[in-house]
Amino acid sequence: MRYEHNCSGCGISAARILLARAAADRDIQVVHPGSCGVAATSAPGIASGLAAVARLNGEDTRIVCWVADRGVYDESGDVLYIYCDTEFGGGPEGHGHSKDIVGMVSANGARYAAAVSLAHPDDAMRKMRYALDAEGFRFLHILAPCPTVWQSEPARSIELVRLAVRSGLFAVCEVFDGTQTVVNVEPESSQGALTRYFALQGRFRETGPNAGAVLEHIARSWLQLRARESC
Ligand code: SF4
Repeated sequence: MRYEHNCSGCGISAARILLARAAADRDIQVVHPGSCGVAATSAPGIASGLAAVARLNGEDTRIVCWVADRGVYDESGDVLYIYCDTEFGGGPEGHGHSKDIVGMVSANGARYAAAVSLAHPDDAMRKMRYALDAEGFRFLHILAPCPTVWQSEPARSIELVRLAVRSGLFAVCEVFDGTQTVVNVEPESSQGALTRYFALQGRFRETGPNAGAVLEHIARSWLQLRARESC
């Protein structure tokens, strides 16, 4: 996997490094559209085709597809989709990644779906290994800071993910077979972390986030997640 052409501090690069480590000596084939993962509409089709050919040939290989849009996947294939969420095209509130993407994908038939934090590499690689070894439609949602769009310091990318997790904005969880939900990292629900998360990003400097709406959204999301966790 090549990642040296991405900008410094790119979350996608960090995710690819972790995936390369997690894959270790597994035979994997990766479909991805380019450095930023933009315009990835044909990638799922290619990945599904590769998976079908591998199955016909009895190959012991895993197909991994990087997608730039959480809605672009083929749930019938034997493919691991990795969605690096850089919030391209996200609204000025910039909290699109707090949407319950893992819950939505699980409801659409994912055998395994997980939210992956780049600030928690052991948990991230465990999930990548599990997802690589599992069968069927699997999905990983990774919050991937983009210093260019977020207008943040490249050296702050991992800190930004950690702040998103601490504040509760990014819920680190996993769902097995659409039914069993597990929270992997407990949030601190820290308002200080949320404030710093926004302060470190230049994109919020002029308009500012709607802090009240964001807090309300976080509280509602966690209520729903806790309800699913206790099922
Ligand atoms: S523009 Fe953003 S997503 Fe693209 S390579 Fe640069 S940091 Fe990564």
